[in-house]
Amino acid sequence: MKPSYAEEYKVRETVMGPIFDQLLQSPEDFPVTLVFCNGSNLCHLNRDLIIRAGGRSKVSKDSPFVALHSDQDPTVVSRVLSDLVSERPTIKLILTTSYLGMGFDSPHVSRVIHYEPPSDLIDYVQQIGRCGRNGQQAEAILYYNATDLGHVRQHPGGKEVDKFCKHDGCFRKALMEYYHCTVATLENCCNFCSN
Ligand SMILES: [Zn+2]
Repeated sequence: MKPSYAEEYKVRETVMGPIFDQLLQSPEDFPVTLVFCNGSNLCHLNRDLIIRAGGRSKVSKDSPFVALHSDQDPTVVSRVLSDLVSERPTIKLILTTSYLGMGFDSPHVSRVIHYEPPSDLIDYVQQIGRCGRNGQQAEAILYYNATDLGHVRQHPGGKEVDKFCKHDGCFRKALMEYYHCTVATLENCCNFCSN
């Protein structure tokens, strides 16, 4: 059964509300973060963020957040991309779809959040590979619930994503094994290793 509008709003508030508050309260301390989500969640999250920031009239090109998707004005896209490779980016949170996957290369991105799982592990690896490009410590956060996994399993590569989300072991090792690679034990690995 499809969750109601109120239920979906509650989930967005629980997951992203504290992150949005942190961004708006102290954008200067906020790590440059990419939030990957589907087109419908992007619209909802962008609207939640605009309302939190005081409404559309308060949002300007100096705001610390932006939505990047295939229908975005190309002048906005090029301004954002230049900002993100500049020495001190002012844009700290980018809501995006798979539009900003492979090929996007900013040295400043140190966090990638998936608001819901992608439909393919290869997409996931490419998208989390957008952070830590400068060799800095970076963080990848993946949110999912049973409804998301139900959708994901309908895609050809979805079974692997479902398996990865439910994995009971080191997540880094699981991803590396998917690519037939091995990994040395690292500090600050994943939530499995730190528990
Ligand atoms: Zn680990």
